[in-house]
Amino acid sequence: MLSGKIALVTGAGRGIGRAIALTLAGYGADVAVNYCGSEAKAQETAEEIRAMGRRAIIVKADVSSQEDCERMFKEVSEQLGVPDILVNNAGITRDNLTLRMSEDDFNKVISTNLKGTFFCMKLAGKQMLRKRYGRIISLSSIVGLHGNAGQINYSAAKAGVIGMTKSLAKELAGRGITVNAVAPGYIDTDMTAALTDAQKEAMQKQIPLGRIGQPQDIAETVAFLASDKAAYITGQVISVDGGMGI
Ligand code: NAP
Repeated sequence: MLSGKIALVTGAGRGIGRAIALTLAGYGADVAVNYCGSEAKAQETAEEIRAMGRRAIIVKADVSSQEDCERMFKEVSEQLGVPDILVNNAGITRDNLTLRMSEDDFNKVISTNLKGTFFCMKLAGKQMLRKRYGRIISLSSIVGLHGNAGQINYSAAKAGVIGMTKSLAKELAGRGITVNAVAPGYIDTDMTAALTDAQKEAMQKQIPLGRIGQPQDIAETVAFLASDKAAYITGQVISVDGGMGI
């Protein structure tokens, strides 16, 4: 489904990003595995990809830094080739009720989740324009669509990702480049591991399909959007949430 394609996945050492990187490789893509702090985990992801017979490199970059993003795209292009597929997965949370949230926690979440996605969209868009081909897929969230108490910073960033996705889709549609977003519900990763058992149970009760999502649930949707099977889909947000947002 993706043989001959080159993918760059941000935050691909662990969690959803790791599942996306492995799944894209499983469908035939060569993958650049971006990480910020988890070098050993990024290395493991890359080794698993190589074991599948695909090419993989790891590339360190803090996506909230434009300079780092520029260097990352340069390294990926030189070592693997210009990406056909960009997955903006890197993300963080810094939760607090609005009245208690510091400017620093607001800024950190916006810088990583929103600005980081903007930098990568811009750099990938530039390269993909020359190819007249591309797939840009960004991780939004159910929280970007519906809001959540204690996550005003995160919901702003994830709603912003949807706005950027729709704007960029309109800008690039004439050049063979599709731009979409995936909005996960509650997925079992380090990000959600901090929740108490009571919170997890309450969350699970809100999921019509009756189970917490797995990274693979997201990865399969991303792989579909990255493939030519999704050639006529652009500017969309696909919810993968077990029905939580219905
Ligand atoms: P996670 O397990 O906490 O992993 C976060 C990933 O983001 C890590 O690979 C981390 O890399 C990377 N990252 C963080 N800051 C970065 C930076 N400045 N530069 C580059 N990479 C950075 O989170 P996850 O659950 O897999 O989430 C992945 C994406 O899905 C995020 O965008 C998240 O908002 C979204 N999402 C998750 C859920 C959920 O329920 N889990 C729901 C909706 C949306 P390092 O470890 O190398 O720093």
